[in-house]
Order: sequence, then C-alpha cells, then structure tokens
Amino acid sequence: MKRECFYINGQWQKPIKGGAALPVYSSITGEVFESVPAGTAEDADAAVRAASKALPAWAAMGAAERAKIIGRIAQGLRDRADVIAPLIAEEVGMPLEGARGYQTLRAADALEDIAVLATKIAYEEPLGESLVIREPVGVVAGISPSNFPLLLSLNKVGAALAVGCTMVLKAPETAPGSLFYLADAAEEAGLPPGVLNIITGFGPEIGEPLASHPLVDMISFTGSTGVGKLLLGIGAQTIKRAHMELGGKSAAIVLEDADLDSALPAAIEQAFINAGQVCFAWSRLLVPRAKLARCEEILRDVVSRYVVGDPLDPATTLGPVVTRAATDRVRKFVSQAVSQNARIVTGGIEAPKGLSRGYFLQPTVLSDVDNRMPIAQEEIFGPVVSVIAHDGEDDAVRIANDSVFGLHGAVFSGDHARALGVARRIRTGQVDLNGFKLGMTAPFGGFKQSGLGRELGKFGLEEYLEVKSIQL
Ligand code: NAD
Repeated sequence: MKRECFYINGQWQKPIKGGAALPVYSSITGEVFESVPAGTAEDADAAVRAASKALPAWAAMGAAERAKIIGRIAQGLRDRADVIAPLIAEEVGMPLEGARGYQTLRAADALEDIAVLATKIAYEEPLGESLVIREPVGVVAGISPSNFPLLLSLNKVGAALAVGCTMVLKAPETAPGSLFYLADAAEEAGLPPGVLNIITGFGPEIGEPLASHPLVDMISFTGSTGVGKLLLGIGAQTIKRAHMELGGKSAAIVLEDADLDSALPAAIEQAFINAGQVCFAWSRLLVPRAKLARCEEILRDVVSRYVVGDPLDPATTLGPVVTRAATDRVRKFVSQAVSQNARIVTGGIEAPKGLSRGYFLQPTVLSDVDNRMPIAQEEIFGPVVSVIAHDGEDDAVRIANDSVFGLHGAVFSGDHARALGVARRIRTGQVDLNGFKLGMTAPFGGFKQSGLGRELGKFGLEEYLEVKSIQL
C-alpha cells in the first residue's frame, strides 16, 4: 500500500512541505511494505483549522443524524475488512483471525454502537433552578497507538464524533495503513468535510504540534505512559481537556481454590493476545507458592501448543511483534530478569526455529520472579509472562497493587463471592473474574499511571462533553 496524501477537510492533500515518505516495515519480513506521508506542524495546523471550521455545523446536527453517518462509516469498514485485516496483521503481527475479528469487524460494530448510544444521552436536563446542558468539548486531537491501530482510533472517533466534536486523528507511524481505509469510508459515507481529518508522521514532528495547537480543546491519547506524561504537560499550557489511555502491568491472581487446569490456560491466552502487545495483558501471573511446581508444569504444556509463525497463515496462533526495536526490548528484559535469578520455564531469547526474518519471539514464561524486578514492574509488550509466587489472598493483593500502573487484572477462584471480594481490593480500572471478558460498553481506563478518564459506553461519551448550567 502506498499513500501520498493526508485526509484533510474532506480532501486528499499532499504534505505542505512535501516531506519524505514514511516507510512502514512488515512484521513478517522486516522489509518495507508500505509507505505513508510524514507530516509536519504545517499539516497539523491545516487539519486543526479544518476541524475547527467544521465544528459549529456538526455540533448543531442532531445526534440521530450524526449516528446515521457514523453507521455508514462502520459499514464502509466492514465492506473493506478483506483488505484491512491482512494489512493490520502484517503491520502489527496479530494472526489474521484476530486482525479481522477484534481489530476490524468488532471495531466497526463498536463504532456504530457508540453512535447509537449517543442518541440516548440527556443533552439537557433540569436541575433545581438550573438547566444543565451537555455540549461537545470541541476540536479533539486524537493520537492512537500501534497495537490496535483501527480499534483504538475508532474508540476515540466514535465517541467524539457521536456527541458533536470534530477530530484530527494522528495515526501510529508503525501501523498507519488501516486509517486510510477509515478515511475512504468516511468520504464514502458523506461525512461533512473537516469533521474527521487523518494525518500521519512521527510523534515529535506532527503529534506535538497537533497536541499543542491553540484551536485544539482536548487531547485524546492512547499510548505509552511516557508519551502521555509529555502530552499532559503540553496540554497543560492551554488547559486542554485530556483523556489518557496509557500502559499497564496487570496481574492475574490465581487463588489456591482455583481450578488450575482451566485458570492457567485462560490466563496465558489473554496474556498472549496479539503476541502480548496489549495494554491490559496479564503479564504477571500470581500463583499459590505451594502449587508453583504444578503451575509451571501446566504452563509449559499450554505454551508448547502455540504455533508461532506468519500471521497470515491460518494455522498461526502467535505472530511477530511490531518492530525490530520491540524484539530487542523484549529480549533485553528477559535477559536482565535471568541475570537477576528469574528462571525460564519455557521459551527464551533466541528467535523461534525457522523464523530469523521479521520480528518473531518465542512465547516465554519466567518463574522465580520477584515483583521488584524490572520485568515485573515495566511494561514488556511482548509474549512474556512472569510467574510470581504468593502466600495467600492478602499477599496476592499486595503484589498485584505494588505497581505504578493500574489498568486491568484478573482473579481466579472456585468461589465467586471470594473472587469478587478480591477484585474489589485491586486498584485497577478493570478486573475480570475467572477468565477474560472483554466488554465493549463497560468503562475502560486506568487508575494510577495507566491513565485518566474512561473509554467506551456511556462513560466514554461523557469524556467528550462539557457541562454547562444555565440558571433560569
Ligand atoms: P507510543 O506511546 O510509542 O505511541 C503512541 C502514539 O503516540 C503514536 O501515534 C506515536 O506516534 C505518538 N507519539 C509518540 N511520541 C509523541 C510525541 N512526542 N508527541 C505526540 N505524539 C507522540 O505507544 P505505542 O508503542 O504505539 O503503543 C504501545 C503503548 O500504548 C503501550 O504502552 C500500551 O500499554 C499503550 N496502550 C494503552 C492502551 C489503553 O487503552 N490504556 C491501549 C493500547 C495501547
């Protein structure tokens, strides 16, 4: 795929400064397989001005009318699933079935659903002597990450546009392709010019000028905590609204009354979705100390069944990661953990057999991990799970909460009420009981350094609304 223009003001526009094309590398071969334009501050400015100009009419349009147009965009994405899914699979490394299901079709459905939900909000309600009005925040700078480039962009686009905001969306530079198809779908759906503008390029070159633009009212960012901190600082200069979906280091707690034969495969399956390139991955697995040996045995067996390979091959269950830098980073953390006395239960740092090209890693489980080690404290973003032994419920909760992050987590127990009690004590935005249960309407977001605000469902819509009271 080769694209040379941005989608700005309903038109395809070349980069103003005519900069070099941005090469995108295949996670399968490690070679350049697509290119998109690399923008600058001038392009960000043009896109923000278009969004600002489009705002009054879009905000004044009824939510039902907006939902109809957004519904047509969702359909346009479903119609393009056969091109979008393999593209995301090759960019990001997620096996095709997931790239088609999770990353494309489910994302399109969620886009449509949130637009319909936005028609049910009480945009005006009396409160005592006042009339309370909810208005769109305004122009939103959306910045999205590489691991789920379309889905996580649509979470922003859907909620923002549905309530009447306009947006400039910056695609992730390592996986930008699907967002051009979003622009195609928006154009075909008759979205008014300027309501959604899509630009590409490197963060510091186009993302920062976008985020700092005086006409931007809100920054909606999904990505690493480090970049989130930088963007919060930038937004603070003009007190922009900020919605931050950041990193995680989530723990799955397996209590001693859990059924290990079902809990451990479920925990691994969640942790290895998209080769571990998932913000909410349960990358720490907290198991009862007395059952550590049995847990390791089960984990070895579960992991041995993964088929590592080309994400476009239907037999593959674990694909590569997104960049060479990501493979190097994961290997560095595993080597460091081993040097600090962690033990490899299965996997390792060598490339999987026959897969020396591209960005492939072995699915790896480490045991004897101490929660203070970097492998247990930092986000690894690869197919690596750290097993940490706990000495009962209180100890497990203490370890789970001993993190600067607070995004997700899980509790496995034979006793539902007990699992729920433990979940209440975990300081994270989401906790799943006895298995992975992704809901597309439950509020999603982080405590602590995992973020600010919530995405999805009615809580997600609230992020893009200002509240005004008029005293009657
Ligand atoms: P990243 O932070 O490197 O990049 C995310 C986006 O920010 C990209 O579009 C990038 O170009 C842009 N960016 C980078 N530097 C910038 C700058 N100086 N100014 C403006 N924009 C800039 O993250 P990534 O590697 O693409 O994604 C992985 C990270 O995202 C992980 O930390 C993961 O946990 C997080 N994430 C969080 C969630 C969530 O919902 N909490 C979901 C997915 C991913």
